[in-house]
Amino acid sequence: MSAKRKIVVYDTTLRDGTQGPGVSFSAADKERIARLLDGLSFDYVEGGFPGSNPKDEELFARLAEEPLAHARLAAFGATRRAGGRCEHDANLNALIDSKAPVWTLVGKSDTWQVANVLQTTNNENLSMVEESVAYGVGKEREVIFDAELARDSEYAVEVCLSAARAGASWVVLCDTNGGSRPDQVRSGVAAVRKALAEAKSTARVGIHTHNDCELAVANSLEGVMAGADMVQGTINGYGERCGNANLVSVVSNLALKLGVEALPEGSVQRFSELSRTVAEIANLALPVQQPFVGHGAFAHKGGQHVAAVLKHKDAYQHIDPALVGNEARVLVSELSGRGNVLAKAREFGLELDRDDPQTRWLVNHLKELEHQGYAYEAADASFEMLLRRLQPGYAAPWNVADFTTQVRKNGGSVHAEATVKVEVDGTLYHTAASGNGPVNALDAALRKALSPRFPALDDVSLHDYKVRILNGDAGTAATTRVLIESGRDTKRWTTVGCSANIIEASLLALLDSLEFALVDRG
Ligand SMILES: [Zn+2]
Repeated sequence: MSAKRKIVVYDTTLRDGTQGPGVSFSAADKERIARLLDGLSFDYVEGGFPGSNPKDEELFARLAEEPLAHARLAAFGATRRAGGRCEHDANLNALIDSKAPVWTLVGKSDTWQVANVLQTTNNENLSMVEESVAYGVGKEREVIFDAELARDSEYAVEVCLSAARAGASWVVLCDTNGGSRPDQVRSGVAAVRKALAEAKSTARVGIHTHNDCELAVANSLEGVMAGADMVQGTINGYGERCGNANLVSVVSNLALKLGVEALPEGSVQRFSELSRTVAEIANLALPVQQPFVGHGAFAHKGGQHVAAVLKHKDAYQHIDPALVGNEARVLVSELSGRGNVLAKAREFGLELDRDDPQTRWLVNHLKELEHQGYAYEAADASFEMLLRRLQPGYAAPWNVADFTTQVRKNGGSVHAEATVKVEVDGTLYHTAASGNGPVNALDAALRKALSPRFPALDDVSLHDYKVRILNGDAGTAATTRVLIESGRDTKRWTTVGCSANIIEASLLALLDSLEFALVDRG
């Protein structure tokens, strides 16, 4: 076996990632993510900023009690205050209390910042770096030094050398404001590496980038190509302003494009699951077009592409989606021909014959439905149900015989009630429920009727509900298209319903979703 160069992967989702808009993790969320990353053999997991908030203290306490199996746990902090002493520095002492085996200390490496932000001298800043690193090393901690706004300047190099001299295992160049170009990152990494080599230091170089110019991933790769051995970033690129380097993309590129080892192959194959799970914990939708792991990252539309993809898998995809745990998808649209429909059916494990009259009927039927307002591009599950219902022997699990909804304004509040009659195997179930709106009430009444017979539906939840009015110039007579996103664990599916009536459109989408939840389980 040849020894491949190994890049060390350092995750800061739990600290830098939580600076992102809309990102908030409880201590339990953080622990779940830390253990997920640990399970995928991340080298370092930064838990947070001890002393900054009680959530982080709780997390460090839990991880001290039950340590991570593989990853080294890092606690983040700043170098000591100007003019102060390490022993009296509350921030450094909070790092001791966290019991984390690794300290990641951030310090200034830019003369303008030293003068204007720290309001101290360049020499005092060098002492702050050197003494703080030495303090951690003296407490038998591994110390990683994050050089803030490190540029290819004499002073930045001097700051990094001070940290290395004091015993830092890594000096990490941080493009803190995300404004650097790849060539600047390259020269910055090269300058620090050269200085460390000349000083015969064993400290290694890392790279930490932000995405303000949409260059975070490119800058990370450039840093590695210039000799950095550690990449820092976050899952899904969460982070303040435009985010951090997305480790999912960085590591996928390292492994699949640069051919260097970062995480084990089996970990990269679980990236789609990791990315979606962390998005779910953050309660943020993962963009459909997220590179490598988005649901649309390997989606194909248009007849010609699909035909080519079917013939030669790699004609229109840059990697085999399975390498990152993703899968190719075919988008069905009005423009698509029989090829797309066949490909889509195959995705669901249904073999249709191209020349079968049923296939031709299906294509025409689809066109008719799309003309009515149905859109299947974003509603895979409804399309699958359409195909399944055409299969010989497929029996609908239930039949909605009747429903009513009522909305009442009573004083200041609005109440909705719904009743449904559903037939299952010849038995008629009649239920009623209330809700904050008619669709919510209908959903509740349906579940009440179906749950005793189909307990598998209990863990299905509604995640998103979108209403779109088509041919809007017809006013209230327009067609309403409802898209419902449902889920179970990390799995998501979308269904569509169309009608001149918004309640009926919603019910159709709802019924598709529940029926899909049953067949998908089997
Ligand atoms: Zn940062």
